[in-house]
Amino acid sequence: AKRIRLDKLISNMGFGSRSEVKLAVKQGRVTVDGVKAKDSGMQLDPDQAKVVIDGEEVLYRDVIYVMMNKPQGVISATEDNRDRTVIDLLDPEDQVLQPFPVGRLDKDTEGLLLITNDGQLAHDLLSPKKHVPKTYEADVLGDVGQADIEAFAQSVTLDDGYETMPAQLIINDKETRQDEVVSRITLTIHEGKFHQVKRMFEAVGKKVIYLRRISMGPLQLDESLPLGSYRLLTEAELEQLM
Ligand code: URA
Repeated sequence: AKRIRLDKLISNMGFGSRSEVKLAVKQGRVTVDGVKAKDSGMQLDPDQAKVVIDGEEVLYRDVIYVMMNKPQGVISATEDNRDRTVIDLLDPEDQVLQPFPVGRLDKDTEGLLLITNDGQLAHDLLSPKKHVPKTYEADVLGDVGQADIEAFAQSVTLDDGYETMPAQLIINDKETRQDEVVSRITLTIHEGKFHQVKRMFEAVGKKVIYLRRISMGPLQLDESLPLGSYRLLTEAELEQLM
């Protein structure tokens, strides 16, 4: 069985700092299995004990899986010296579980980002051997055409000489902006090289001017999530991922 200090459990689940929780115990505001707790350092099994503070049950969880609709201007990392990170966008009670983003989206890329503290799942999803598909929508400066579809379906050579795996390109529509053709596309890739989507279009002489991810493996971006917000994965989503 697991053992964890009472004050640590309550604090980690987002009910205040360790010293605030200690005070709450002292003031008799915490019960464990219906009995007023006397010692904030008491050890308990967080999966078994029923802990209540100020009448509210402290539900224990030690794993977290969230889907974020990442906005532009935010870094996909846990820390950054200059910019806000996706972790800064989480509520404090979610931050205490020390989640991290699974893979990276560029600072100017939007869309689906999975954030978890489940290292095994992250590892599996990012493993180059698994070829987990990732689908992006992009606005591309230039007239994307059949030749590009065919090139991407075979392989294109990136600026460092890397030859990409087959990718599926769909042209959704085209428009003219300031006398230039902009193509709206959907691209599914099965690997994740640095700046891959942008560099694939560079390889065919075009430029990505807007990029967002809409799916990763079985996970689809929840379109009802505003940019910068997030929600926990549903049971069904978790089941598909595992
Ligand atoms: N490809 C890119 O170029 N950028 C991203 O953020 C994701 C995929």
